[in-house]
Amino acid sequence: MGKLGYSRVDLVSLGADGPPSKMSEGYFRFLCPNCGEMRATVNPRNNLAHCFDCQKNFNNIDLLLTLDYDFLTAVDLLERWLNEYQTRQAKK
Ligand SMILES: [Zn+2]
Repeated sequence: MGKLGYSRVDLVSLGADGPPSKMSEGYFRFLCPNCGEMRATVNPRNNLAHCFDCQKNFNNIDLLLTLDYDFLTAVDLLERWLNEYQTRQAKK
């Protein structure tokens, strides 16, 4: 398995597979898997999620693992998204 740029996979593209979420004040907010508050937002600069309630940081893999994906499934899913992302970029 090669090293992939998981951080380039947009957390927002989790869509219905992702945690409960909403757009609010220009931010993509979702349910924090740690404290359960709708206070976690994605930083578009590094694509890491940060919860403003419990101050915990999450990356994409962390999030998928908290959603009951096992590690390999999570990696698989992110790999597919990354491929789709790169395909889209190549068409531009
Ligand atoms: Zn939290």
